[in-house]
Amino acid sequence: MSEFFVTFALFVVIYSPARSNENTDSMTVLTQSFDVLVVGGGNAGLCAAITARRAGARVLVLESATKDFRGGNSRHTRDIRYMHRAATDYVTGAYTEQEFWEDLRQVTGGETNEGLARLTIQNSEELGDWMRANGIHWQKPLRGTLHLAQSNLFMLGGGKAMMNAYYDTASRSGVQIAYESEVSELRIRDGEFLSAVVSGNGAAREVEAKAIVVAAGGFEANIPWLKEYWGNAADNFIIRGTKHNQGRMLKELLRHGGKPVGDPRGCHAVALDARAPKFDGGIVTRLDSVPFGIVVNKEVKRFYDEGEDFWPKRYAIWGKLIAQQPDQIAYSIVDAKALPHFMPSVFPPVEADSIAELASALGLDPKALVRAVDEFNRATRPGAFNPGSLDSCRTEGLDPPKSHWARPIDTPPYYGYPLRPGITFTYLGITVDERARVIMQDERPAKNIFAAGEVMAGNILGKGYLAGFGLTIGSVFGRIAGREAARRATA
Ligand SMILES: Cc1cc2nc3c(=O)[nH]c(=O)nc-3n(C[C@H](O)[C@H](O)[C@H](O)COP(=O)(O)OP(=O)(O)OC[C@H]3O[C@@H](n4cnc5c(N)ncnc54)[C@H](O)[C@@H]3O)c2cc1C
Repeated sequence: MSEFFVTFALFVVIYSPARSNENTDSMTVLTQSFDVLVVGGGNAGLCAAITARRAGARVLVLESATKDFRGGNSRHTRDIRYMHRAATDYVTGAYTEQEFWEDLRQVTGGETNEGLARLTIQNSEELGDWMRANGIHWQKPLRGTLHLAQSNLFMLGGGKAMMNAYYDTASRSGVQIAYESEVSELRIRDGEFLSAVVSGNGAAREVEAKAIVVAAGGFEANIPWLKEYWGNAADNFIIRGTKHNQGRMLKELLRHGGKPVGDPRGCHAVALDARAPKFDGGIVTRLDSVPFGIVVNKEVKRFYDEGEDFWPKRYAIWGKLIAQQPDQIAYSIVDAKALPHFMPSVFPPVEADSIAELASALGLDPKALVRAVDEFNRATRPGAFNPGSLDSCRTEGLDPPKSHWARPIDTPPYYGYPLRPGITFTYLGITVDERARVIMQDERPAKNIFAAGEVMAGNILGKGYLAGFGLTIGSVFGRIAGREAARRATA
């Protein structure tokens, strides 16, 4: 009997309605009136919502996901890049505006809006304090986290803890939140937002507001849309983040005459364990074994220099490289001495005592893999192996070459990982100005439509990526969009 009461009490505690403004009864909250609608409850959306609320606006966040899955791709993050003038307990040295700008210029090859990029960098200086004041705690960077100890702050508990803190802050300050509320349509006339059509729990409702902030991520989870640029190859892409980033809001903004920005094929894509779930596998399914062995496609052909440069500078090109291979699959092959040099994988590697057995276990032609490994081993030249430098272990006479960390694959057991392209986010977005106003095709800013986060990151990231910069863009532009939307709505 007492067991029954304990179970019943637990049930009541777990399933009782959420306190405060984290409104799970979406349809009720949608009947209230608001100054600012924020579409998307990830980092950019919450930064906008908190800022707009503090500026005196009545704010509603509309989020497609359930409460348990709130936080979009932002909940998978670990660190944020920011400008700072000195070392602290959590970063090892200063990271100046110039250094930040040079890093960005290098990765984008100059494909960036310099005005918006510099604005982002300059405004990022406040983020450490602002985030702290809104409930985020820091931790020292962990070993093996892509050499970011100088430039990036690591959130204690990662993105999930960050998003929980933001939701808590938002909710306490009076922001209303409607989960399971997907915005399916925007009503816009002459560059002026009028209302949003919200679907949830089998019903649709039109919600009006004086201004809107679109912070609904990219379209990386929309496979049919990806197929427009990638063809059937997109069927084999794995989406590292939320299934809810379908790009519906981006499509709506474009349909109403918003000006696009960025390469439609542009995306951040990494080598992912092919056994990862189709969506939301997050950070742990990325594989960092590539520089320490060879990578072959299903025809057992190597296709790129695995040791071209440090992994943090190369990991984000491997998704696209694999996307170009037959059936979008590849295999990372390493031996026992390579294993300690990369982060352990979440799924155990396929293991065998010989290369031929490993090939069979991976579904590859054993003779071809033995031949490929022999050829590679013969081409390696003696050198001083050092994973911390661009070392002298390289191949000679091999096409493609392996420029560093090329050691013979000769120490059993041998290990293999199947790899797929893992899409982090897409770059095609909506053009904005320095006030986060959406720019229309006639170059004029929309009157009361603002955008922040992935949906506008293409203004700044024309190509390439800097680790931790997705959150920087979303936080800076989220705050700007929140401030400007509130100003417009309460004027
Ligand atoms: C595995 C992984 C690791 C990453 N690690 C880092 C990192 O360490 N540092 C970093 O800076 N960046 C990282 N990124 C990139 C980072 O996640 C993004 O740049 C950033 O979180 C984007 O924030 P956002 O608010 O624009 O989008 P999101 O956080 O994705 O939020 C968008 C929200 O909009 C909602 N939504 C979408 N459409 C609608 C609609 N029609 N109606 C209502 N709601 C809608 C979604 O459900 C979602 O919650 C990582 C990404 C992934 C996938």
